[in-house]
Amino acid sequence: MCKVTIDGIEVEAAEGATILEAAPLARAFVPTLCFLKGLNNLGSCRLCSVEIEGRPNLVPACNTKVSDGMVIDTKSDRVQRYRRMAMELILSDYRPDPLRDPDNAGRTQLERVAKMVGVDASRFSQPDSSVVREPLVESNPFLSFDPNICIRCQRCVAACNEGAHNHILGTVHRGTRATIDAPFGPDWNANTCESCGCCAAACPTGAISQKRTRSYSLKDVKRVRTTCPHCAVGCQFNFMVKDGRIVDTEALDGPSNKGLLCVKGRSASFDFVTSPDRVSTPLIKNRETGEFESATWDEALDLVATKMMRIRDEFGGDAIASFACSRSTNEDVYMLQKMTRTVFKTNNVDSCARV
Ligand code: SF4
Ligand code: SF4
Ligand code: SF4
Repeated sequence: MCKVTIDGIEVEAAEGATILEAAPLARAFVPTLCFLKGLNNLGSCRLCSVEIEGRPNLVPACNTKVSDGMVIDTKSDRVQRYRRMAMELILSDYRPDPLRDPDNAGRTQLERVAKMVGVDASRFSQPDSSVVREPLVESNPFLSFDPNICIRCQRCVAACNEGAHNHILGTVHRGTRATIDAPFGPDWNANTCESCGCCAAACPTGAISQKRTRSYSLKDVKRVRTTCPHCAVGCQFNFMVKDGRIVDTEALDGPSNKGLLCVKGRSASFDFVTSPDRVSTPLIKNRETGEFESATWDEALDLVATKMMRIRDEFGGDAIASFACSRSTNEDVYMLQKMTRTVFKTNNVDSCARV
């Protein structure tokens, strides 16, 4: 541990902790923009800059480690002036669509942080009349890229390369022309992008976004936390529910997914809920017609139970094996093995979560 003083309060921080990690120990709040926990600590936006006693320059809190005896100021006048200037420079070429949904204006992380540091507009922005808007890149059915509101923070690159390990995204060009080479154009399906959407979830401006977010305003949805139904990883996310219908997902910082989702969890975990093709009652095959017919749960369970018991009595328990689906909950899988061992009298139990 090392003793550090943050905004006049002495705290003990773990050796190797960053100033950003240590700040909450002294109840200090440090704003961030390009920082993405565990994935991106480039310190390129400079909004988390703080002052350290004895050092001439401000340093980014996200990638500067504490050391014993360090005296840190997270909110001096100099720090606040510096953050406002950094934000004005970032906003100088941030050009949101003037026709965007006003309900969503001010809701991006960039806009929230700008408000937090006290910046409404940038003195360095070009007048609207002289701005040439770049076309959207949006042939991908799920994702789109709007270069006009990209602030080149690199969060998407970190999410794709370090989080999803897909190594698709990168920066092209230099200086003020630098932009993200987003693979969502006409050849969107000719690369190895998995349309997982981790880049869109990481983007603090909505420059990379999922198209379906256009179908709702954040003020109209309520969030319901759940576990992805698709595999045994058990990723955590919120369903975004509008008028009783699931319209989207939002990854959470769960123990196994840490804010990431694969394409199945993010985009294929809810449409089926209201699909007209969904099988919503048990079906029993009519032996005479060969067609499946709707049945009640009692009828279906009685039929299965009768047949299973007949197999056990006629051929012995080892003629039966239970194979649990990895999409089932722990509790359901536990009950399946319990029933297999105690009712069918066999230890033939397995699960596809094991492979
Ligand atoms: S697309 Fe979004 S996350 Fe990527 S660099 Fe631009 S603003 Fe940052
Ligand atoms: S959708 Fe996934 S794979 Fe494709 S660029 Fe974004 S993060 Fe990378
Ligand atoms: S989001 Fe993907 S990896 Fe996570 S539980 Fe769902 S299917 Fe599995």
